[in-house]
Amino acid sequence: MSAETMDSVFIDVELDESAASDPELAKKLEEVCPVGIFKATESGTEIVAGQLDECVLCNLCVDAAPEGSLRIVKKYES
Ligand code: SF4
Repeated sequence: MSAETMDSVFIDVELDESAASDPELAKKLEEVCPVGIFKATESGTEIVAGQLDECVLCNLCVDAAPEGSLRIVKKYES
């Protein structure tokens, strides 16, 4: 099964396709996120859907990714 971000209630992470397929960025994201939302694979970043609601909105991932390529979406504020 592929990583589905629909399972979360409060938080969704949107990562642009080009950034998601960068294995170097994937390693960085896996390293910076304190709650394990990003998993580095050979083909890039996998988003661990079951962890999404653990997001502490620290923005470390947003800072690590190329500008504008990663967005944290607060579903409850829409
Ligand atoms: S904002 Fe922080 S906790 Fe949330 S996904 Fe990014 S690095 Fe992880």
